[in-house]
Amino acid sequence: MSFSSLSLSDALLNLLTQKGYLQPTPIQTAAIPVILSGKDLMASAQTGTGKTAAFTLPLLQQLSTVQADEHVIKALILVPTRELALQVNKSVTEYGVNTGLKTTVIYGGVSIDAQAQKLAGGVDIVVATPGRLLDHLRRGSLSLMTLKTLVFDEADRMLDMGFMDEINAILKQLPKQRQTLLFSATFSEAIYTLSKKLLQQPARIEV
Ligand code: AMP
Repeated sequence: MSFSSLSLSDALLNLLTQKGYLQPTPIQTAAIPVILSGKDLMASAQTGTGKTAAFTLPLLQQLSTVQADEHVIKALILVPTRELALQVNKSVTEYGVNTGLKTTVIYGGVSIDAQAQKLAGGVDIVVATPGRLLDHLRRGSLSLMTLKTLVFDEADRMLDMGFMDEINAILKQLPKQRQTLLFSATFSEAIYTLSKKLLQQPARIEV
């Protein structure tokens, strides 16, 4: 299997070559076509399997094709921790370098005003932890009504950390018409319950 058989754009294929990625990992091979088809997805993937690129590459491709001049929020990637937020933001920025899409990261424990200013400048993709995202929603420093894609990364850790109330509050502010992708290291009863609330007829991938 090669990246070129996954229907990715030439721009992304060139970038992957530059980065020295010779072939897709199993989660990338399985997830990229499903995401490009527009379906919801529930995928089990451990850290280190290439799961970040598995959702980021098709997401960037989709958003580059619909990209309007306006930088409004089109994708939200929810993650459990600040460390993961920074790491995912770095990957999205690197993979998206030639797309013209703007990305920002928001997490707690730092000044909220600087983050609000970045949001006010217009962004296409937000990587966020649930608590601080909710703070911004309550302050009105962002709206998610233009969202097209929602990604949950490490959903099991998000539940373990007790973010269910925040997740429920965030879900109320999202358009019902959207694509939702859920990645989790494990599939517990709680993850299935969450997936029923979030996903519509999802494809399931376990690698
Ligand atoms: P992740 O599981 O998303 O945290 O990715 C783990 C590491 O694998 C990251 O450092 C990526 O840059 C790298 N990586 C992701 N996909 C590939 C690939 N297809 N070939 C080589 N390295 C990759």
